[in-house]
Amino acid sequence: MSEERSLNFLEEIVEADLAAGKHVEIHTRFPPEPNGYLHIGHAKSICLNFGLADKYGGKTNLRFDDTNPVTEDTEYVDSIKADVRWLGFDWEEEHYASDYFDQLYAFAVALINKGLAYVDDLSAEQIATMKGTPTEAGKESPFRNRSIEENLFLFTAMKNGEYNDGEKVLRAKIDLASPNMHMRDPIMYRIKKTHHHRTGDTWCIYPMYDFAHGQSDSIENISHSICTLEFEVHKPLYNWYIAQLGIFPSNQFEFARLNLTYTVMSKRKLLQLVQENLVDGWDDPRMPTISGLRRRGYTPLSLRNFCERIGVQRRENIIDVGLLEFCVREDLNKTALRRMVVLDPIKLVITNYPEGQSEILKGENNPELEDNGGYRDLPFGRELWIEAEDFMEDAPKKWFRLAPGNKVRLKSAYIVSCTGFEKDASGKVTAVHCEYIPESKSGQDTSGINVKGTMHWISAEKAETAEVRLYDRLFQVEDPSSEEGDFKSYMNPNSLEIIEGAKIEPSLLEAQPGEQFQFIRKGYFTLDSKLSASGKLVFNRTVTLKDAWSKEMKK
Ligand code: ATP
Ligand code: MG
Repeated sequence: MSEERSLNFLEEIVEADLAAGKHVEIHTRFPPEPNGYLHIGHAKSICLNFGLADKYGGKTNLRFDDTNPVTEDTEYVDSIKADVRWLGFDWEEEHYASDYFDQLYAFAVALINKGLAYVDDLSAEQIATMKGTPTEAGKESPFRNRSIEENLFLFTAMKNGEYNDGEKVLRAKIDLASPNMHMRDPIMYRIKKTHHHRTGDTWCIYPMYDFAHGQSDSIENISHSICTLEFEVHKPLYNWYIAQLGIFPSNQFEFARLNLTYTVMSKRKLLQLVQENLVDGWDDPRMPTISGLRRRGYTPLSLRNFCERIGVQRRENIIDVGLLEFCVREDLNKTALRRMVVLDPIKLVITNYPEGQSEILKGENNPELEDNGGYRDLPFGRELWIEAEDFMEDAPKKWFRLAPGNKVRLKSAYIVSCTGFEKDASGKVTAVHCEYIPESKSGQDTSGINVKGTMHWISAEKAETAEVRLYDRLFQVEDPSSEEGDFKSYMNPNSLEIIEGAKIEPSLLEAQPGEQFQFIRKGYFTLDSKLSASGKLVFNRTVTLKDAWSKEMKK
């Protein structure tokens, strides 16, 4: 978007820091945990981090926050890299918190040596209960005042695998009476005898998020460490570690996470949908994941524009998914190739068009583009497919589609006048009859006839067949996570409609994955990259042409 907007609060901070000479160059990072696929909320974080660096001539690192070996996997690492690139961003350096395990261990030893960390034998539950409450101070562990020598000895033994999971932890020695619970001697290291996706079995102790994140920022000289609001309460701890270790003073700034209506946005919940086969994988076109949106037909530009439009706030809110749909429509209207597809076909027979005759008409690719984006061939003949819903036997007055006696224009072809229809024994209309007006050919119409309706159609002789998938909201309620009970009970049972025998114009046989189409009057579509692999064509509807949902709600 080119319209000028005022600075957001993060840009104000960066500008002030640069003006004050606090940093010569800014350095941000995007720090995903590789425990799932990225979702549109992450896209917001990516756009902010890379956007700030781009705007102020700085750099952005991609750092995998892989300190929990239990939930992490290289499949996720690969998908995250692919998604960030697809969104249009390129990182300066690629890092893994696990690359810093030696350094983090040395930091921990340094804190022990300063008398600021101790090995505790209490269990996780005991530690939790002894932490107190926000209004009541915590109690000291009986192991809090071990000597530095003993702590060094025990921490080394922890590292060497001499204890089992949960037997010992390393804690920071801060303040058990702090009003901030995170400062009440937080755990720095715990034992987890689990294989790590990068370090294998080298380590059996792993740093906690708080002991890894700030130090990783510091090691990479990150000037502005941007994260979501829930980390605001961690900030004093983030600063405490950096100050006690005397390392590069990275600074944390928080913004409100993106929430979107009719979906869920936590990897844990999305993983449940995948594991319970409630969706077709992380990239199911109904998922709010970047890979799902890509498969659905969203473009990188539409997602970046969406992130720009929603801006950045300090207070939580929920964004109407209609805005996301608006952004993709806006982009696709400018770029998508116009094509004709009939989803629910019935025959239209042009009784005055000679049998055995046919012709090739020209269809514009996109009227929004210069020279209409070029033209494609549209075979035309005596028998066509039209949408069943475009014919009515007893039509009301303002019906501008086909009905006995009505005239309509067939898009890029001729005006036809409806003369009759055929029914089968059950009373179902099986074919519509009409006569065409030869002088009304599109582009060279001399008929002088004006009609109100334009319809799409396909030559019955040349039509190909495809599967078309129409999607609706994955959930029936605006904010499934805030409803009572299991969020999965609010799933929309009609979120996927499969149409097997759609008739498509022959030019669509050449459709490529990643190419976007507007199926005239039906919406924006793209080839399904996964299901179309076998030679069968499957098209996904990205979005309708208009917002059918809010209209439905107003009824
Ligand atoms: P989730 O809760 O969905 O599992 P997370 O915060 O655990 O997300 P991370 O991989 O740790 O996911 O996130 C990487 C970065 O993306 C973090 O800086 C995080 O704050 C940010 N982020 C995650 N979810 C959102 C969101 N909904 N909106 C904006 N930023 C987000
Ligand atoms: Mg996280």
